[in-house]
Amino acid sequence: MANFPPRPYFAPPDHLTIPQLVFDYEHPTRPARPAGVPCLIDDETGRSVNLEELRARTNGFAAWLQNVYKLGVDDVVALSSPNHVDYGPVCWGVHETGGIVAAMSPSLTPNEIEHQFRIANPKLIIAHPLTIKNIQAALSHLPSITADIIVIGVSHAEAGLRTLDQVLDEASRQNLVVRRFRLSAGASRSKMAFLCFSSGTTGKPKAVALSHYNIVVAVVQLATAQGVNDHRLSRDQARFRVGDVSTGVLPFFHIYGLAVNLHFNLYSGLTTVVTAVFNFEKMLSNIVRYKISTLLIVPPQATLLVKHPAVKSYDLSHIHCLALAAAALSPEVSTEILKKWPHIHLGQGYGLTETTGGVTMWPVQPKCGRFGTAGAILPAGEVKVVKLDGTEADLKKGETGELLVRGPYVALGYYKDAEATEKTFLPGGWLASGDEVTLTEDGLLVIVDRIKEIIKVKGFQVSPNELEGHLLSHPDIADTGVVGVQDDYAGELPVAFVVLKEGAKQRTKGNVLAEEELKMEVMKHVSDAKSKYKWLKEVFIIPAIPRNPSGKILRRVLRDDLKAGRYTI
Ligand code: AMP
Repeated sequence: MANFPPRPYFAPPDHLTIPQLVFDYEHPTRPARPAGVPCLIDDETGRSVNLEELRARTNGFAAWLQNVYKLGVDDVVALSSPNHVDYGPVCWGVHETGGIVAAMSPSLTPNEIEHQFRIANPKLIIAHPLTIKNIQAALSHLPSITADIIVIGVSHAEAGLRTLDQVLDEASRQNLVVRRFRLSAGASRSKMAFLCFSSGTTGKPKAVALSHYNIVVAVVQLATAQGVNDHRLSRDQARFRVGDVSTGVLPFFHIYGLAVNLHFNLYSGLTTVVTAVFNFEKMLSNIVRYKISTLLIVPPQATLLVKHPAVKSYDLSHIHCLALAAAALSPEVSTEILKKWPHIHLGQGYGLTETTGGVTMWPVQPKCGRFGTAGAILPAGEVKVVKLDGTEADLKKGETGELLVRGPYVALGYYKDAEATEKTFLPGGWLASGDEVTLTEDGLLVIVDRIKEIIKVKGFQVSPNELEGHLLSHPDIADTGVVGVQDDYAGELPVAFVVLKEGAKQRTKGNVLAEEELKMEVMKHVSDAKSKYKWLKEVFIIPAIPRNPSGKILRRVLRDDLKAGRYTI
């Protein structure tokens, strides 16, 4: 196969806003979208949306926000919705007025929403029928937040709430126009556009503040490295191609969905089939129905592709590109995929919310990234590997240490949290990733382990610390430690080790049934309060949680005990 030299990276100008990138920006990596190639398709109704319709809805919403709702520059609008064709217009409408979008998971429970609202302090909330009840429950504890709620996804909302369609009608009836928010040279780097939630290295979710430039760079560098609009590549060699149809199952609130599935796909001339709630068989039938040839998914979904019995009932021979990120893809699953579909472009990327997604991605050549690696460094940034003991010495290729990342896609910090920001966003512009890695001789990234205290369930973050805090509110629990256990499908799942209080110890002593009942109760204590992906797989009652002399939980001991089969699941 011919070898293509890497494409030079032309940095986009640093005055761009995200709506300018989406609607008007021209760059060598940006193909023209031919008339008739829609941007989005709603998978349920088959309704397709083109760029002009997205632009009109964005402008209408922005005009209403500015003229009627009087949204100010840097005011926060919370967006709590599953994927929807109006997700983009809502975000860009807010950006056109200078506002900030807090992108929230639609599966949050009321107390998780409350936590995120306390940080973001939204002036307006955009919700979906699926999320309204929990939002209202959270707001009942937050009298200081007086934000209105606007509903997307329906044409009529319940009493007292307006829909996005009604707001757009109002803007059009009154001929409202928006004075577009524009930035001077350099200002795109520091103007906040999104708050995306991440636990960082530990603890409850924090709001990662992303600038307009963070998103602009994330998109343009990916298009550069992936050879979008590179006329040297034949149709077969090109990976992301104008007019190809892509899945839209990655949640748009998560950085992989937001930066890649929504913004990169639009920029690159793909059509995204927008799916609100992921269901594997529905994805398979959508691949056939909409001739989807580009799959943007997470490793657990790739595992289903090779293991699920339903796959053989669908003709998936037209799949051309399969891109994975957000968690590790095993060499075994990669091998299985290529056995089934030897012709496809398969690869994975690595990144964090704090880096606006992509730090690495498999290179255009060779056709498939080397199994077990997360690919090559994307062109806008740089990385170094330092010692885990914090002595900061740069390590050579092949040595294992913590990955530090620097570049214009590194977030501004954690919103209103100077202490957490200082720990992760280091002097000199370096971001501490919390991941243990090595770089191969030819510059590919290998993720070895995670130093930070997060568990990744289906690509979503679960903070052991957050679950431990909640478990301690159970009346029978004296101490606890949560760790992740490997799972074929989810990647990892949380399990809790608990030490019982004296009364509960007496109650359950020698009584297996009472012990089982208590474990179920503990699991329910979590499932009642936390999003589904945080639910415990198992609870183990143990005499003491291993801790170091300063009281820190020795999670590695717990993990090693599990691996050694000292506890059975
Ligand atoms: P998030 O902010 O939710 O995207 O989580 C970022 C974290 O996900 C990283 O710091 C890694 O621990 C993990 N991660 C992302 N991509 C990969 C990958 N390709 N392989 C292994 N871990 C990954």
